[in-house]
Amino acid sequence: MALTTDFAGVDRGTETAETKTDYSRYRIVPARHPGRAAGTIFAALVIAVVLYSTFTNPRWGWGVFAEWFFAEPVLVGLGRTLLLTALAAVSGSILGTALALARVSKSPLLASLSWGYIWLLRSIPMIVLLLVLNNLGYLYETISIGVPFTDKVLFDYPTTQLLTPFAAAFLGLTLNQSAFFAEIVRGGILSVDQGQLEAAASLGLSRRRQAFRIVLPQAMRSILPTGFNEIIGLAKSTSMVYVLALPELFYTVQVIYRRNLEVIPLLMVATVWYLVIMTVLSIAQHYIERYFSRGAVRNPTPLPFQSYFQRLRRAPTVTSARAGGVTLGSQKNAADWRAKGGAVRIHGISKSFGTLKVLDDIELNLPAGSVTAVIGPSGSGKSTLLRAINHLERVDRGFISVDGELVGYTRKGDVLYELKEKDILKRRTDIGMVFQNFNLFPHLTVLENIIEAPIQVRGLSRDEAIAYAQELLARVGLSDKIDAYPRQLSGGQQQRVAIARALALRPKVLLFDEPTSALDPELVGEVLDVIKELARTGTTLVIVTHEIGFAREVADTVIFMESGHVVEAGSPTQVFNDARHPRTRAFLAKVL
Ligand code: ADP
Ligand code: MG
Repeated sequence: MALTTDFAGVDRGTETAETKTDYSRYRIVPARHPGRAAGTIFAALVIAVVLYSTFTNPRWGWGVFAEWFFAEPVLVGLGRTLLLTALAAVSGSILGTALALARVSKSPLLASLSWGYIWLLRSIPMIVLLLVLNNLGYLYETISIGVPFTDKVLFDYPTTQLLTPFAAAFLGLTLNQSAFFAEIVRGGILSVDQGQLEAAASLGLSRRRQAFRIVLPQAMRSILPTGFNEIIGLAKSTSMVYVLALPELFYTVQVIYRRNLEVIPLLMVATVWYLVIMTVLSIAQHYIERYFSRGAVRNPTPLPFQSYFQRLRRAPTVTSARAGGVTLGSQKNAADWRAKGGAVRIHGISKSFGTLKVLDDIELNLPAGSVTAVIGPSGSGKSTLLRAINHLERVDRGFISVDGELVGYTRKGDVLYELKEKDILKRRTDIGMVFQNFNLFPHLTVLENIIEAPIQVRGLSRDEAIAYAQELLARVGLSDKIDAYPRQLSGGQQQRVAIARALALRPKVLLFDEPTSALDPELVGEVLDVIKELARTGTTLVIVTHEIGFAREVADTVIFMESGHVVEAGSPTQVFNDARHPRTRAFLAKVL
């Protein structure tokens, strides 16, 4: 009764009464869950029955089990099982990764070879493969390595001596494992967003670095659960090598029970050891998965001791940089930021996708240090134009040059040689690109995102790269986010990091593809402010944007594109206030 009156009082809005109510006199009665309680009782009963029957039924033979569990032959067999599993897991994963990379490679023959291998090895039953390898001596009496099509022999050995049962088992498990693992890795690679590759390429990272630093670490998140499943399967399928009379754990146990006829206790010895192996592997999996989930979740729980180690490692670099940074930085900044812009000449370029002509004979001249805003309806070819300038897209006709150097070609006299991927990547570092969806590398911290390309491509030392990254972050107002992962940042902050990342290579030209369209309205301003600052520094900027007010303020030239044509180009005042072309006027009427 007392309760009712009290609450009634609160309901009536007597605020003073509410704040003064003393809740401590109430007693809390937990909610009852009769279903849950019944479930608990049932589970306890099941566990009790299982334990009772396993420990009271003498036929389980726990005495014999204890006698053999740590017996020497069993431990030797266990050692072999572990060794085989470890070796086959490592070599199978390496071979599998190579096969997966071959399958996604651009060489059709290499991709088909890899496909054929996977098709064959996945089709052959494991046991058949093991027996064939064990009988390889019958097919080929000797194994020799020599110079093809000559009589020179470097190495010649009888097959049976070379292919011991252990070697055959190792080979069989590896071959089998690699075929399955290759598909798991390929699945992982496919799961990584295409934008990640483009961002890596636009920073000029080598193909190798793109694969091993950007794609595979992110692919690991989807590779690991199934990959470990495979390794656990592998640990169990080592038991199949008993067909080669190789005394691993299972074969050893069989030998023993044939002698003493204690079948069940000895099978239990093997089972419990397999359980131990799987438990260890599962724990390892848990920690490895946590490691590779860096940046994938907003609030990662640190591994035990991880935060402690991180603090130890970071502390010296941060303090030393701060100590010298402030006074030194400001003078150096001024010089660095007035980077020389590059002059971009676009000469008659055309590009088609199938029958669709996306760029049609475009002719543009962007002087060094100019700021150009590109506007136009969706699908008019704005992104394609930027991607062509950065050579992410090959044009069908025409040329683009930056400071007189042709993008994608090198000139010797009157002959143009198409550049190899490696050289294209090197040239590309003069042209930075900022994407609509930021395309930051989510598994790397803000600092790591920025210093990756300067170290790898420009050959800066780590300390130099970090110092410059700190300056850049101060410039975009994100000094405090240096150790954050991209997913822990707002969209506007991510885009500012992406700008800092592009600037870290000190590009001559910076391309922005709708840098603010993925942002909430209140975040647009902070990104535009950073670009406005940049516009004053002398870097040549090309900005695809729908922010007309911004374009009017920063651009010295505005280009209106439609259906692959530059319809109109001129000063902002001329294009926005007094467009010559009716199409431009119609478009502006819609967006202004
Ligand atoms: P915008 O950036 O101006 O919106 P885009 O340059 O992205 O336009 O695209 C121009 C046209 O080219 C669109 O019609 C688009 O569908 C087409 N397009 C772009 N990329 C491809 C591609 N890889 N394959 C086929 N069509 C494409
Ligand atoms: Mg676009």
